[in-house]
Amino acid sequence: MPDYTIEDFSKYKQYLNTINVVLERYFEDQKEYLRCKAGCSHCCEHGDYPFSELEFQYMLLGFFRIDPQEQKEVIKRIQALKEEYAKLEDKKEFSHRCPFLSEKGICTIYEYRGLICRTFGLITKHESGKYTIPFCQELGLNYAEVYDSENKVLDYDKVKELGYKNLPNAYRTNLKALTSEELFECEPLDFGQIHPMMHWL
Ligand code: SF4
Repeated sequence: MPDYTIEDFSKYKQYLNTINVVLERYFEDQKEYLRCKAGCSHCCEHGDYPFSELEFQYMLLGFFRIDPQEQKEVIKRIQALKEEYAKLEDKKEFSHRCPFLSEKGICTIYEYRGLICRTFGLITKHESGKYTIPFCQELGLNYAEVYDSENKVLDYDKVKELGYKNLPNAYRTNLKALTSEELFECEPLDFGQIHPMMHWL
């Protein structure tokens, strides 16, 4: 298990700054298709949230900086989640609400959130060439007008018909890509192992 130091976290913070600039560009490019707005927390309601160890340790730094009452609430949610998890026979693909999400639907550790959290809302392109559409399209939100859910493809005729300026774009925003220093031309970092959030709680 890597023993992270203040220097490691400071390097990671620089890494985040670089990634945030790149992601801002992606969000700007795709803004016509995005319905993300303050108070919307669908992406934090269901998932297994894979994080590397470095990310999760950094998230804990954020947790220790929040209001003590809020910390108690997060701990309560973690305990309830662990109890639910312990009772499961099949622990694979456990989808759950993130315990860092407050009752009001706000991320309590926003500045310290993980890498994938920063990409919620965009289309993710995987190494295999496949892509994942944000699941909120099912709720009539991101990409809903241009996604053919029956055939599971983007409908480019619809894009044209609706007069969108930019094409819908899929970006390499899976965790493997986001932890690749080459992709972001950053100093190498030891991210440690990657596991779903339940492993780290
Ligand atoms: S850490 Fe924050 S942004 Fe990430 S899933 Fe949890 S509540 Fe959502």
